[in-house]
Amino acid sequence: MTKVPSLVQMMSQLIGSPSISCSQASWDQSNKGVIQLLESWLSSMGFECKVLPLPNQPEKFNLIATIGKGNGGLVLSGHTDTVPYDEGRWESDPFKLTERDQKLYGLGTCDMKGFFAIVIDTLRDMDLSNLAEPLIILATADEESSMAGARALSQQAKWNARYALIGEPTSLTPIHAHKGIMMDKIRVTGQAGHSSNPNLGRSAMDAMHEVMTELMSFRNELKQTYRDASFVIDYPTLNLGCIHGGDNPNRICGKCEIEFDMRALPGMSNDALFNAVKQRLPTIAERTNTEIELSSLFPDVPSFSTPKESDIIKACEELTNNDAETVAFATEGPFLNTLGMETLVLGPGSIDQAHQPNEFLALDQLDPMQKVIKGLVERFCTQRQ
Ligand SMILES: [Zn+2]
Repeated sequence: MTKVPSLVQMMSQLIGSPSISCSQASWDQSNKGVIQLLESWLSSMGFECKVLPLPNQPEKFNLIATIGKGNGGLVLSGHTDTVPYDEGRWESDPFKLTERDQKLYGLGTCDMKGFFAIVIDTLRDMDLSNLAEPLIILATADEESSMAGARALSQQAKWNARYALIGEPTSLTPIHAHKGIMMDKIRVTGQAGHSSNPNLGRSAMDAMHEVMTELMSFRNELKQTYRDASFVIDYPTLNLGCIHGGDNPNRICGKCEIEFDMRALPGMSNDALFNAVKQRLPTIAERTNTEIELSSLFPDVPSFSTPKESDIIKACEELTNNDAETVAFATEGPFLNTLGMETLVLGPGSIDQAHQPNEFLALDQLDPMQKVIKGLVERFCTQRQ
């Protein structure tokens, strides 16, 4: 038999191997420990494992573990990194799996190292020696920060799989769509000068006022033009998040910056949104005699949508007795869809506990998730499609 430990022992080792990813370098860690654990368990079960460093990030890795040959089949996917944690706000050590009140506590229990332990524990009881179509376990890096792992996948392997499940915490509800996310910045550059004479400068703040008016009118247009009833907030949003400018009441403001996010509905293009904002800026710049530049703060995440009629959505609705829904957070789903897979997001635990102190996975989530995994492997790998 294999050397794979029990489900709780696996989870405990995964939680005990810190793998924070963060845009702040002081928090950012390698995910090597988690990848090595997954690789050792999966290879002892007969999976062929490829550990692939990310381009330009030699300490971050994706793992692609495959059993079975040929085209088609199923990908079970998750991210190996976690967000940072709030020191002092945890009731137990975030890196020590702790069980109390029928819950397993630890950083990454529900988001989402626990998923890998559940997958591996389910698969060890199944006969995978003669699959009709391949089963692939995909473990990515840096989902919580840049999604660099998912972005690198197309260069790292040829993908022929037909279906994919991402085990993010959705309380076992199948998720078939989410909005895109982009975060942008507009910088207005004028000229500082003494406030007593407006002719001594060009106010970046006055110009920013016009920029904000334009963004708010664009937001209204978006709201009036686009609608998708499957979302709670059923229109695209634009949030003016923060603004910085000027230094003193008696100086004309020379520089002002605003940061905002836009969340597109499925079917809308992030690039088109970005360009629509960009096109509105030159007239303001001309009128106010300032320079106005638009730039991205982070690489954007496209919106994600898999048709509700897809076989994997239908299969997961049957296996969970839950209808497919949409969520308000972004996932690696759009990147897997781009690789040609029909992807859904479905996993144990609640997003309410993710990114929080005292993150936990309730024990009653384990059995139903194992049933989903077993059902999908039987349907999409054991039988020929
Ligand atoms: Zn997650």
